[in-house]
Amino acid sequence: MLAEELRPIEQLIELLENSNKKYDLEKIKKAFLYADEMHKGQLRQSGEPYISHPIAVAESVVSLGLDTDSVCAALLHDTVEDCPDKTNLDEVRKLFGDDVALFVDGVTKIKSINVEDKEETHIENIRKMLLAMSRDIRVIFIKLCDRMHNMRTLYVKKDAKRRATALETMHVYAPLAHRLGMQRIKQELENYALMYLDPIGYQEIKANIDDKFGKNVNFIENITNHVSSRLEAIDIKHKLKGRVKTVYSVYRKMYNQNKSFDEIYDFYALRIIVDTELECYTVLGLIHEMYKSVPGRFKDYISTPKPNMYQSLHTTVIGKDGIPFEVQIRTRDMDHVAEYGIAAHWKYKSGEKSSVDIDKKLDWISKLIDTETDTRDPDEFLHAFKIDIFHDETFVFTPKGDVIALPLGATLIDFAYSIHTGVGNKMIGAKINGRIAPIDSQPKNGDIVEVITSNSSKGPSRDWLNIVKTSEARNKIRQWFKKEKRQENIAVGKNEIEKMFNRKRMACTDSEREEIVLTVAKRIGMVDANDLYNALGYGGISYTKVESKLTDEYEKNYKKEAPKEISVIEPTPQSAFKKRKSNSGVIVDGEEGCAVKFAKCCNPLPGEVIIGFITKGYGISIHKADCPNISSAFANEDNADRFVKAEWDIPSGNTVSTYESAIQIFVTNRISILADISVALAEMKVDIVSINTKNVDGASIINMTISCKNIEHFNSIISRLRNIKDVIRVTRVIGAST
Ligand code: MN
Repeated sequence: MLAEELRPIEQLIELLENSNKKYDLEKIKKAFLYADEMHKGQLRQSGEPYISHPIAVAESVVSLGLDTDSVCAALLHDTVEDCPDKTNLDEVRKLFGDDVALFVDGVTKIKSINVEDKEETHIENIRKMLLAMSRDIRVIFIKLCDRMHNMRTLYVKKDAKRRATALETMHVYAPLAHRLGMQRIKQELENYALMYLDPIGYQEIKANIDDKFGKNVNFIENITNHVSSRLEAIDIKHKLKGRVKTVYSVYRKMYNQNKSFDEIYDFYALRIIVDTELECYTVLGLIHEMYKSVPGRFKDYISTPKPNMYQSLHTTVIGKDGIPFEVQIRTRDMDHVAEYGIAAHWKYKSGEKSSVDIDKKLDWISKLIDTETDTRDPDEFLHAFKIDIFHDETFVFTPKGDVIALPLGATLIDFAYSIHTGVGNKMIGAKINGRIAPIDSQPKNGDIVEVITSNSSKGPSRDWLNIVKTSEARNKIRQWFKKEKRQENIAVGKNEIEKMFNRKRMACTDSEREEIVLTVAKRIGMVDANDLYNALGYGGISYTKVESKLTDEYEKNYKKEAPKEISVIEPTPQSAFKKRKSNSGVIVDGEEGCAVKFAKCCNPLPGEVIIGFITKGYGISIHKADCPNISSAFANEDNADRFVKAEWDIPSGNTVSTYESAIQIFVTNRISILADISVALAEMKVDIVSINTKNVDGASIINMTISCKNIEHFNSIISRLRNIKDVIRVTRVIGAST
């Protein structure tokens, strides 16, 4: 072997030799030579020999502190896919063993998760990724390193490809790195993704940061010196790191909180790393003595670590000249975990992993996979994935002092189920800090929550499915209904289907309806109609999911002549009016049992003045009082008796119900504008129900249906959208269709 042929991995070998771990250098060299041979003649788009990519990935894998097999897999990760005529997985297994083959296979199978893919493909890919992770988390570490290098070299790709890769990185890989506590990788991924999604915004902020930093170049240095001399005086060994915020975190803050660059509060930060936990608190006291602290900014993640294992003390203080800065105080171990997350366990506990601990931290992955196999509903799964991976956490205490982490907005019911299934199922009430509270209340950080259970409880209520926030609680409630209440579920499901048929005016006999349901049930893999009714009843599948399938089947094989034109129905005498409450959040003066639906032409929102219009066959439709369709209906005298009073009745604090609203956004063409809009909506937790875009010379019109809580919420969404760069006009669409 000529020395020259080894040159490309010299740097890698050096890294390996300088690390404090024992690596099997022979095996790694063998993997390199093999990969080099396989990729021979292949070039990257940048013109470099292909092998430069696996080597770069392997270097990142080494700096994460992973083991020999992971390094080998990093070197080999593209061979099976890119060189199918030269090698295959069995070959790799024979030469390098089971683990290496498992990793290569895992990394290969995680196909690009294109956020614009068809829903099914998209979900299938996320599911594959989670499955690969649950088999061995090192697969994901290697994949993240692979993605990091691809982002570093993304500039060679075409525009559309860049954007797709950057979006995927922003929506899937960066949150994943965050969830695994891998801060360093997360920040790098986010910054690169932003650079490609909004190049102008990125450059602007970067220039601002450089400028601000340039003006205060001595600021961090002075503070560092000041703090350092005080620490030396009391004999505490320490390491100090000064830093400024990353471009992405500034960007996010500016957009999230609608702030200007100058209003970013914690632009500077000082990290103090000491030896022991006790010293962390000593140093905190010292800092608060040296500088004025900003109230409400102190956080103790040492006694209450974040679920991604992050531990540190945070406080914000005011420095000289009134410039605020954040101080993070932690031990060396905590600092390693903060940067490398779960990977830190491989780095510093050479080989033997404290598996119990790690398994517990990765619990959420298997819970997510359970959600998917359990519900058959891709929407639900994606929702669960988003909630579980993007959530911010609330920490609450049990009366015994155990800490339970819940996603932000989780309710006391979620809390009960996170303690134990039995506790949730027998829950009859709860106390927050010793006081009785409604079970749908959302506990705050630091609350002590006590669940009141009773053996005579009849079990959870179906309403809870709409109240709980975590997929864990929802699954457990469904499981209960699935097991305990099959007959009841079937009745509930059947009744809803009948109502759906009536509402959609799908005329057919009972036995025809049964046939339609049976056909659809079989098509989605169920044995008979009762299975489908049961699944609908316990919430394992959503009505909206089957609605279109049932309609299709009806239209295709059962539809008779078109239903007659709507005719006027007899007005009901005023005295017979009863208040009727529907679960739609609207009270209508009218006949009992009428179905209420929201008119698609104006999509009324809670808080707006509304009116009901009696239609034949599908109950009462609710319009905005100033809907143009209503004014034209008013003009026709025949309709005089068909208007009924309607008003909103949304319980305060209800955050569950959402309503659809159509908007139109007029923008100048810019590559990442759609990304900006969808990121803004995602950050406001607004679902996009449908979206389509149309180009009109130089500009685009985006028509979108979003879901929101009420008119105030809607207005806040609109004003946020209007603040996005290059958005010219945002309007609500009313009266477009009937
Ligand atoms: Mn690769």
